[in-house]
Amino acid sequence: MTDNRYDVIIIGTGAGGGTLAYHLAPSGKRILILERGDYVPREKANWDPQVVNVDAHYNAKESWLDKDGKDLHPHTNYYVGGNTKFYGAALFRLRKEDFGELRHHGGISPAWPISYDDLESYYTQAENLYQVHGNRGEDPTEPEASSPYPWPAVTHEPRIQQLSDDFARSGLKPFHVPVGVMLDEKNPHKSRCIRCNTCDGFACLVGAKSDAQVVCIDEAIKHSNVTLLTNSLVKRLETDSSGREVKSVVVERNGNLETYSADLVVVSCGAINSAALLLRSANDKHPRGLANSSDIVGRHYMGHTNSVMMAISKCPNPTIFQKTLGVNDFYFGSKDFEYPMGHISFVGKLDAITLKAGAPAIAPNFTLELMAKHSLDFWLTSEDLPDPNNRVTVGRDGKIVLTYTPNNLEAHERLQGKLKQAMKQTNCAMHGHECHQGLFVRNLYVGQRIPLAGVAHQNGTIRFGHDPKTSVLDANCKAHDVDNLYVVDGSFFPSSAAVNPALTIMANALRVGDHLMKRLGVSKTTYEQNRQQDRELVVSR
Ligand SMILES: Cc1cc2nc3c(=O)[nH]c(=O)nc-3n(C[C@H](O)[C@H](O)[C@H](O)COP(=O)(O)OP(=O)(O)OC[C@H]3O[C@@H](n4cnc5c(N)ncnc54)[C@H](O)[C@@H]3O)c2cc1C
Ligand code: SF4
Repeated sequence: MTDNRYDVIIIGTGAGGGTLAYHLAPSGKRILILERGDYVPREKANWDPQVVNVDAHYNAKESWLDKDGKDLHPHTNYYVGGNTKFYGAALFRLRKEDFGELRHHGGISPAWPISYDDLESYYTQAENLYQVHGNRGEDPTEPEASSPYPWPAVTHEPRIQQLSDDFARSGLKPFHVPVGVMLDEKNPHKSRCIRCNTCDGFACLVGAKSDAQVVCIDEAIKHSNVTLLTNSLVKRLETDSSGREVKSVVVERNGNLETYSADLVVVSCGAINSAALLLRSANDKHPRGLANSSDIVGRHYMGHTNSVMMAISKCPNPTIFQKTLGVNDFYFGSKDFEYPMGHISFVGKLDAITLKAGAPAIAPNFTLELMAKHSLDFWLTSEDLPDPNNRVTVGRDGKIVLTYTPNNLEAHERLQGKLKQAMKQTNCAMHGHECHQGLFVRNLYVGQRIPLAGVAHQNGTIRFGHDPKTSVLDANCKAHDVDNLYVVDGSFFPSSAAVNPALTIMANALRVGDHLMKRLGVSKTTYEQNRQQDRELVVSR
């Protein structure tokens, strides 16, 4: 065995790759993790809205192209921990029905090759691992779960509690959003999380967000059998002469090309970069791109239809941690619209600096500063449907091209209408119904919806399924065409559902991890012993 030979290579350290690395680490197998980025530098700027939201300092420094050949500056992050370093840590299970076929206004959301029950125990494991805080039973669409959340829900601050009460009075069933922050409200002096206003979209300066670096990679690399190489960009995957096996992983590191190999290679670069990597790895046996006999790689790109809507009230909103309230009453439809509409929750509290960058319509008699002080900042998500023409391709120069035409938009417009209606029914003690001045779309970008560059919820480009003609991966997320190639990031989704994707990516990585350990012949006893040693180490620390 040469130094460059491993049992498993994992490419990417985000929700998928990071979680898989954590899960496989106690197996004793030689594991190499390759990450193109470095650690997010720990600096005060981590929590500076000007640096983060206006200067986009931590965003990927590359440009892609849209379908018209225009430059696209993706809002994505290349760091250890991937996009989970910056995520809002709202960690939802998909609904049970999302795994089956669902009819939408804009078409069909296809069924998954696995059911909710296949993933349930992994959702529970992922919730424990990522320390999710939530209250089971409040969300009317929530699927059955085998155990409660490991931590109680993050409480609403007074303004949000008031809104929750208003919504409940009007017949809605508002619930506490499940979030992965290490907040201990009973012991605030000991709590790692300080409940600050720079969480969603920011890296956590005090390491209290349950992200894939803090929770998974930092733990995985304590095992001597696990190696992490940062600043290591995987350029291509090469196969043996049969084309059935990835034989080498070509990496650009310190300005040089290096080659690594492993029995199993797991790609987890995020849905857009994973598709691009497979497409760039075309060879004689895989002329359309690696594992792409179906011509499906890169197709069916989804990223949700998302929008931020600010409700401006006469009453101020001094909330610090705003992402605690959700409404799923319209997830599957309503009496007046029989199709799914989606999910309503919050973004982190918007501030005047961030708003300046977005130039929203100004409410009458309000300045941006005043708007920021008085706004409730909603996040709306609707499902976008898999369209083969919405796709990732790679130009001759290797540049990513993202072609996307939005679909199922009626659902999103209806959802916006439902929120407006719900806000009209709220009744402030001081200002009555007149408290709400209206809902304003925050034009952080051009147009109403979060535009194409907002690729936060990217998924679907390397879908899994039973039929090799219509999917790239089998139900274990192994490539149909290649015997030792797996994908565990958000690429595998056949449909995007309408809740945030990260917990499903994490749970699936744990599921695929179990399959890989069987394939590698890892003894359960050795694994459990090693995992137990980890736990004892944590306790004695
Ligand atoms: C601001 C923001 C807020 C969000 N909020 C939420 C939320 O509240 N809840 C939720 O569920 N989701 C949220 N998301 C989305 C969530 O972060 C993603 O769904 C999740 O991180 C995707 O996991 P992944 O494994 O598919 O990819 P990523 O986490 O993106 O990881 C991919 C990794 O691969 C690396 N990589 C890429 N190409 C290569 C290469 N060629 N060689 C080596 N390494 C490579 C990248 O650097 C990265 O580390 C948010 C995202 C953003 C940006
Ligand atoms: S709210 Fe908590 S987890 Fe989030 S950034 Fe602040 S301290 Fe970190």
